[in-house]
Amino acid sequence: MNTRTVDVIVIGAGAAGMMCGAVAGATGQKVLIVDHARAVGEKIRISGGGRCNFTNLYCGPENFISGNPHFCKSALAGYSPQDFIGLVDAHGIAWHEKKLGQLFCDGRSTQIVKMLSEACEQAGNDILLDTEIKRVQKDGEWFSIQTSKGDFSAKSLVVACGGPSIPKMGASGYGYQLAEQFGLKIITPQAALVPLTFNGEIKESMRELAGVALPVRVKAGSITFNEDMLFTHRGLSGPAILQISSYLMPGQSITINLAPTKDLPTLLQSGRNQKPKLSPAGLLASILPQRLAQQIAKESSFIRLADMGDAAMQILAKRVHNWEVLPAGSEGFRTAEVTRGGVDTGALSSKSMAVKKVPDLYFIGEVVDVTGHLGGHNFQWAWASGVAAGRVIARR
Ligand SMILES: Cc1cc2nc3c(=O)[nH]c(=O)nc-3n(C[C@H](O)[C@H](O)[C@H](O)COP(=O)(O)OP(=O)(O)OC[C@H]3O[C@@H](n4cnc5c(N)ncnc54)[C@H](O)[C@@H]3O)c2cc1C
Repeated sequence: MNTRTVDVIVIGAGAAGMMCGAVAGATGQKVLIVDHARAVGEKIRISGGGRCNFTNLYCGPENFISGNPHFCKSALAGYSPQDFIGLVDAHGIAWHEKKLGQLFCDGRSTQIVKMLSEACEQAGNDILLDTEIKRVQKDGEWFSIQTSKGDFSAKSLVVACGGPSIPKMGASGYGYQLAEQFGLKIITPQAALVPLTFNGEIKESMRELAGVALPVRVKAGSITFNEDMLFTHRGLSGPAILQISSYLMPGQSITINLAPTKDLPTLLQSGRNQKPKLSPAGLLASILPQRLAQQIAKESSFIRLADMGDAAMQILAKRVHNWEVLPAGSEGFRTAEVTRGGVDTGALSSKSMAVKKVPDLYFIGEVVDVTGHLGGHNFQWAWASGVAAGRVIARR
C-alpha cells in the first residue's frame, strides 16, 4: 500500500485536535486529522447539556489540577477566554454567561463543532473519520502510522486522543498507550467531575431524596466548593459534588454544609424562645427543601423545639452544617466528564506541548495531566494547549 506524506498528523478530531489542526494549517502546513469516531467533536456536541460551556471568563491556573500546577500557565496565557470569545463572535455564534463566568451558546453546541470544522477546512486540513489506528512508529525524523484506511507519514505527530471518560462516546486510553510507547510516564488516570455513589443505609436515605437539589458548601481536606448539590438514586451529584470528586482520594470522606448561608444554632435557640411549639421539621423547612428537612428531623424524636435541649440542638446543627459522609466510590469513567491524571507534564514543554526527548511529538488537551474545574475550564485548556502546539508547528 502507498504511504501518503503530510506535514502533521493529529490523532483525535476533538476540541484540542481540531483547534491545533486549524492553527497549524493556517500557514500552509498540510495537516491530516485521524479519528476512530464517525463524527468530529462528539464531546463538544454533548457538552454543557447540549449548549457547550465553551469557556470561562475567569479561567486561570488555579482552576486546574495537575502534578505540576504551574504547567498550564504558559498555554493559558497564550490563548485566553477572550481569544476564544473573539472566534465565537467572528462566527456569529450568540452566547450568554450562565453564572460564575461560565459561557454557553444561546443555541446548540453543534455551532461550536461547525465553527471548528470550518476552521480546519479553511486551513486545508484533511479529516479522516471512522479510521482505526493500528500502529504508530518513529523512523528517523518521520512518524509513520498504519490505519484501517491506509498508511501515512509526517514530520510531526500530535496526540489529542482525550481521556477514557465516557467510552461510549469513542473515548479511549489510546493516548496513554502512545505516551508509554515513547517512554513517557502516566499519572494514574481517575474519573473526575463525576457523581459519587454510596452504599447501605446512607444510599437508601439518599435514594428517598432523589431529585432534591440545594446550594451547599462541600469540603474535602482543604478544598471547598460552594455550588448546588443533587440527591440521586445512587448517591450525590450536582456541580458541588462533581467539583469535589476531582480531588477525592479513595476512602476520603466529604463534609457538606447543607445551609451554608444560615446559622442554625441561632435559629434553633430563637425558635425555642419565640415559637416553642414549632416542630424541628418545621424550622428546618424554612432553610432546607421540605423532603430533606423532614428526613433530617426524623432522625431525632423531638416533636417541638421546646423539648430540645442545647445538646440536641448542637447535634442537629452539626447534621446540617457539618454532615460528614463517606462515598463508596464514584460512577466511574462511564459518566465522568473528564479524566484526572494522564501524560506526566514533566516530559513536556509547557510552551509548546512538545515532548522534550522526542522531537516533533506533541500531547495536547485532556490526555495531558491537566484537569480543569467544572465550568468551561476543560475546553479552555483544550483550546489553549491546541493553539500552543499549533503555533509552534505553523512556524516550522
Ligand atoms: C458529558 C460531558 C460534558 C462536558 N461538558 C463540558 C463543558 O460544558 N465545558 C467544558 O469545558 N468541558 C466539558 N466537558 C469536558 C470536555 O468535553 C473535554 O475536556 C474536552 O473535550 C477534551 O478535549 P480533547 O480534544 O482533549 O478530547 P476529546 O474532545 O475527547 O477528543 C478526543 C478525540 O480523540 C478520538 N480518539 C480517542 N481514541 C482514539 C483512537 N484510539 N483512535 C483515533 N481517535 C481516537 C475521540 O474519538 C475524540 O474525537 C464535558 C465532557 C463530557 C463527557
